[in-house]
Amino acid sequence: MSTKFNTLSLSSDMTDNLDRIGYTDMTPVQSETLPLILDGKDVIAQAKTGSGKTAAFGIGLLHKLKVKKFRVQALVLCPTRELADQVAKELRVIAKFAHNIKILTLCGGAAFGPQLGSLEHGAHIIVGTPGRILKHLGKETLSLENLETLVLDEADRMLDMGFIEEIDKVLEYAPRTRQTLLFSATYTNEITFISNRIQRDPVSVKTTSTEVQNKIQEIFYESKNKTDTLIKVFSTFKPENIIVFTNTKIAAKDLAESLSKNKIDALAIHGDLEQYERNDVLVQFANKSCPVLIATDVAARGLDIKELSMVVNLDLPHTLETYTHRIGRTGRAGAEGIAITLYDTYETENAMEYRADNRSFEDADALSKSNTFEMKPKNVTLVIEGGKKDKLRAGDLLGALTAEGGLAGSAIGKIDIYDRQAYVAIQREFIDKAKKQLSNGKIKNKKFSVWVL
Ligand code: ADP
Ligand code: MG
Repeated sequence: MSTKFNTLSLSSDMTDNLDRIGYTDMTPVQSETLPLILDGKDVIAQAKTGSGKTAAFGIGLLHKLKVKKFRVQALVLCPTRELADQVAKELRVIAKFAHNIKILTLCGGAAFGPQLGSLEHGAHIIVGTPGRILKHLGKETLSLENLETLVLDEADRMLDMGFIEEIDKVLEYAPRTRQTLLFSATYTNEITFISNRIQRDPVSVKTTSTEVQNKIQEIFYESKNKTDTLIKVFSTFKPENIIVFTNTKIAAKDLAESLSKNKIDALAIHGDLEQYERNDVLVQFANKSCPVLIATDVAARGLDIKELSMVVNLDLPHTLETYTHRIGRTGRAGAEGIAITLYDTYETENAMEYRADNRSFEDADALSKSNTFEMKPKNVTLVIEGGKKDKLRAGDLLGALTAEGGLAGSAIGKIDIYDRQAYVAIQREFIDKAKKQLSNGKIKNKKFSVWVL
């Protein structure tokens, strides 16, 4: 497959401009998706950050733009304002091949009035966040009647942030015959789910296989005192987030307690938890408010945590299949993962069955622990007593938190919205400020109680 842009059916104005901005060769995601995109296909593309996804869909949508027809022909949905700004900037550079292509960003957190003014002047391409786009559609200040291309950029992040309903509603305003492109850094079940709903016979492209393979380092340690060895493992490898598997729920509870006594923030999930308790734990682990999750196999079923740096088997799993399944949760998306297995002296014989070239058996005495070692989470979770039933959206919470005098967007992590509650991850040092900001202010003109989980 050639990697030169001029082998595609692009106009010479387009390729000349690409040349001028220094884009001579296509990146892998571009060479794999552009022929399909130019052919009018719906495409679902997964490629890691920095791989050139913006130009992939950007060249595609600009290629078929009818510049003389001054109507919105392409819409790019992004999870945040920062990303929308970046995308718009890149599109403007690529759009230099022609005169007068109007690209407009519409994001929450910005004043509504000026956006109305810009919309009245018309645009070819809109880039924005789902909530604000929806608002304009509802007020009929934006029409998608002439839409030809819809792009979901960083679709995985938009789903993480709970934008699915907004996206669904935006789609109600879009024509059925359109090209829909879905770009994402990760490929999850949710991505497949949304693709099924909004795309037609999509062609799926994954470039990770031509990039780095997942790598899992597998190490076994004999240990008579598992808690102690585990803490040394954490202290030596300094993983960011860990799932520890235990064979029983009693072991899970006990370990959570003893780790906490050793200044390591840990939460356990097991069959005895109520659904809401389980949810509280999973939300905190996924949004980086707790570095260690302890789970039994049954309790961990259906967990989809991305970018897990370490998996630990506190005891030998009962079968090799369980082992493979457990450790497969780390090292995803090309990142390096570590799988640690501890076994008691009396389990040595069973442990030897795991011997293989790619696994090493090491001496736990080589692990070290500093006396001041502790594991505190990056974030703390704020709970808001309001959710979907109150029509709260991620954008509303972001808006309220960052409103004047409030937090910087970078201090805010994952947002999860359920029917009656919302969870927002806040960087630990800003939690008091965040709580104050929400308790003193209003969200969508309403007061909600707020507390720290
Ligand atoms: P992604 O969305 O996949 O994370 P971006 O679209 O932001 O990545 O692109 C990353 C960088 O690569 C940007 O600075 C962009 O200008 C540059 N880039 C994209 N395509 C090309 C290309 N074909 N040749 C050179 N640079 C490129
Ligand atoms: Mg991108």
